Amino acid sequence: MSKDRMEKIRKFRARRPRGGGGPRMRGIFHQWKDGDNHIRLVGDFLEVRTHFISPNPKRKERGLCQATAFQGDDSIPKVINCPDWDIERSEVKATKTCRICKLNAIAHRVLQQEECTDEEKKYYENLRRIARQTIKLKWNILDRDDPFVLLVADGEEKRVKALKIADIGMEAWGDIEGIYDQMAPLDIADDKEGLDICVNRKQAQRMTYSAAAVLDTSLMPPTAKMTPLTDEEKAMKHHDLKAITGKQTDPLKVMDGLHDDYRQHLELDEEEEAEATGTTGTTGTTGATETATETATDEAKAAAAEVLDGDGPPKGDVEPDDDEDGLVPSSSPRRTPVSKKKG
Ligand SMILES: [Zn+2]
Repeated sequence: MSKDRMEKIRKFRARRPRGGGGPRMRGIFHQWKDGDNHIRLVGDFLEVRTHFISPNPKRKERGLCQATAFQGDDSIPKVINCPDWDIERSEVKATKTCRICKLNAIAHRVLQQEECTDEEKKYYENLRRIARQTIKLKWNILDRDDPFVLLVADGEEKRVKALKIADIGMEAWGDIEGIYDQMAPLDIADDKEGLDICVNRKQAQRMTYSAAAVLDTSLMPPTAKMTPLTDEEKAMKHHDLKAITGKQTDPLKVMDGLHDDYRQHLELDEEEEAEATGTTGTTGTTGATETATETATDEAKAAAAEVLDGDGPPKGDVEPDDDEDGLVPSSSPRRTPVSKKKG
């Protein structure tokens, strides 16, 4: 082995602390379980907009991207942040670049403007559904049912009490908002004046979420129980929500991972747009050379039909499961807040 390489390795090892560097925490992402989940919201939240892009074998759905995109060293996450949402400023970006949102818009447009066969209708309704953007709140919480995470330091694991990061979908949020209204002007996530809430997850036709304040049943009538943080709880470090959950996935990798027919839809759409505006497209990662024609959508439809033949009809009538990704359909019917406490 050359001296140079030995020296390079020595320097590399010196730069890199043993065991991958510093203590790490594992299990910081809270997982909703079926039934009651007792939690205490702590501090500020972060609004994110995401897409669930992987296949969902449990629902026999092929998803937006091919399974291979989620395997190996170069894999992409199953849930990605929508690049059209500015996490830093909590607002929609002026310039839209999200290819998944684009697919959603294409499906929407075809359904509105084109004569579709039943099969095509199924295909585009499914595409519109799986390409939908999901709104979630990321929140530091105390998990009252299991307040422990794993602290990994020097190759050893230790259970320590710590905050976790929870995904609050819009269905649960509808109820939490109701608790806020009932408790106004109190901030239920405040260190001092906050209170525990119970989020219930139920598997019915689809996964449903509801939330209610935890009540002190020793009082008549039972009243929301304030749970000021203890000194130990106050001292717990808040996870940096932006740093941990705000990462963007390389859009080119997402594009490469898409099923061929979806990528073709985007390319054709871009060519159409380019022709309309006289500019050149930027998406082309597969070097499509056909010029845009009026039959562009028909070609895409043909591709759609092929897919349907190959994979069987997509389950267009079921809502996405949220077992793995915390997905809650944004258009789902709101449940009324439980535990109406007036006066
Ligand atoms: Zn998007």
